[in-house]
Amino acid sequence: MTLDHRLVLSTYAQTARTAHDTLTALDQLSGDGDFGDNLREGLDRVETALGERPSDAAFAVAASVFLDEVGGTSGPLIGLLFQEIARALAHSEDAREGWRTGVAEGLAAIQRVGEAEPGDRTMVDALAPARDALTAGEDFAGTARAALSGAQATAGIRARRGRAAYVGDRALGAPDPGAVGVALLFWSLARVAEP
Ligand code: ADP
Ligand code: MG
Ligand code: MG
Repeated sequence: MTLDHRLVLSTYAQTARTAHDTLTALDQLSGDGDFGDNLREGLDRVETALGERPSDAAFAVAASVFLDEVGGTSGPLIGLLFQEIARALAHSEDAREGWRTGVAEGLAAIQRVGEAEPGDRTMVDALAPARDALTAGEDFAGTARAALSGAQATAGIRARRGRAAYVGDRALGAPDPGAVGVALLFWSLARVAEP
C-alpha cells in the first residue's frame, strides 16, 4: 500500500490546531502549559517547509523541523520519531511495513534519550501500544485506537518523568498531553489511509 505522507502531516497539523486548547489545558495541569503551542507551531512550520521543499520526503522534512526548531521536551523527541519513520519509509515499498519499523525504531530512540518506560505517564504510553498493534498486524485504524486508549489510560498514572513528575497528584484524572498529542498522529494517519 502507498500513502500520501504529505497529506498525513497536513491532516496532523490541522488536528493539532483543533486540539490546541485541550492540549494547552492538559499541559497546564501537569506541566508548564506550552505543549499545545509547541505541537501546533511545529506542525505549522512543517507545512511551510513542505511547501518550500516539494521534492523532499515528507517525514524527513518534518524531522528536520522538529529536531532543529521546535522547543520543549517534546520537540526533539517527536523529531526522533519522525526521523525513524522517514528512514523506515525510505527503505520499504509498503507503507504498513514502513510504519511498523519506523514506530518501533522511533520509540526505541525516544526511550534511549528520555529513559521513560511504559507507565511513566509520557508519550511512550501512546507509542508502545501503537508499536504493539502494528507488530501484531493491526491496520492503521486499529493502531490509532490502541494509541488513543494508551493515551487515555495515562489519566490514572502519576508521572515519574518530565515536569509532570513535580506536580504529584494534581494531574490525576487528566491524560498526559504528550501521549494525547502523539496519539493524534496515528488518528491522522488512519484518516488518510482508511477514510
Ligand atoms: P516541557 O515539559 O519541556 O514543556 P512539552 O510541554 O513540549 O515539554 O512536552 C511535554 C510532554 O513531553 C509530556 O506530556 C510527555 O509526554 C513528554 N515527555 C516528557 N518527558 C519525557 C521523557 N523523558 N520521555 C518521553 N516523553 C517525555
Ligand atoms: Mg510543556
Ligand atoms: Mg516547556
